[in-house]
Amino acid sequence: QFYTSKMNAYLSKQIALDNSLHHALEREEFQVYYQPQVDLRTGKIVGAEALLRWQHPEQGLVSPVKFIPIAEENGLIVPIGEWILMAACRQTKIWQTNCLPNLRISVNLSARQFGQHNLSQRLVHILEETGLEPKYLELELTESIFIKNTEATTRMLNELQTLGVEIAIDDFGTGYSSLSYLKQFPVDTIKIDKCFVDSVVTDSKTAKIVTAIIQMAHDLNMKTIAEGVETKAEFSFLRQRQCDEFQGYFFSRPLTATEFEQLLNRENYC
Ligand code: C2E
Ligand code: CA
Ligand code: CA
Ligand code: CA
Repeated sequence: QFYTSKMNAYLSKQIALDNSLHHALEREEFQVYYQPQVDLRTGKIVGAEALLRWQHPEQGLVSPVKFIPIAEENGLIVPIGEWILMAACRQTKIWQTNCLPNLRISVNLSARQFGQHNLSQRLVHILEETGLEPKYLELELTESIFIKNTEATTRMLNELQTLGVEIAIDDFGTGYSSLSYLKQFPVDTIKIDKCFVDSVVTDSKTAKIVTAIIQMAHDLNMKTIAEGVETKAEFSFLRQRQCDEFQGYFFSRPLTATEFEQLLNRENYC
């Protein structure tokens, strides 16, 4: 009885979220947050990751961890994903013009979006519409996409490479044991997952794994960025091991566009 009512409550909440997700775009309830990505050598801001936020009229701020899976399931991730791409590219172009000419924007791309046959045309449209050069757009794809070693995957990744956008592997090292996809696909950046960063200074095995990932990426002419960096010790370790970039609370939380711009002003980028 207890579990049943708990499950029912959970299910009706999920269904309510699913329903309101259908109206969230038109009601302009989404917002883009920007988390700075910093060059570990120079300490300068070189990019930002665009992160989706949903201000639900009744439930308040809903975490993407909660609603992205629902949007994946019902297909709404495609229009929502397109919306954040457009908004983030437009905003980045403005910051390039006013402050940082080489600012890069990283946008998460879900498997469902990646499966769209006309993805490159959609991206070309967004880049033309916003005036952002392709090389300043980095798409973050999870390992699950690469692991599907099908002809369609190869074709799409090659299309994206031809388009000139950058490709990053998100949450690297968390999902799959095979590394063979690294030699098959055009990859620019490896994103070292937070779970590694978390124990890099407390666990010597993790330290060795991270060191090896950085070394391997460099040998393959790829760049490394560490996510979820929260402490000075983590930062120092990564810098010493020549990781290229980092993002995390140690430098900044994800910020609203206004806050990000204030940060750029405060640090004299504009
Ligand atoms: P992710 O792509 O791995 O994004 C990194 C997450 O770590 C973000 O959570 C970010 O706010 C958080 N984070 C960054 N630095 C730190 C830190 O120092 N400490 C801690 N504890 N957390 C940190 P967020 O924004 O809640 O996003 C969660 C996930 O939702 C993302 O994980 C991504 O998978 C997904 N997501 C967010 N926005 C989008 C989007 O526009 N499209 C798609 N497809 N997925 C998105
Ligand atoms: Ca990401
Ligand atoms: Ca992650
Ligand atoms: Ca940590």
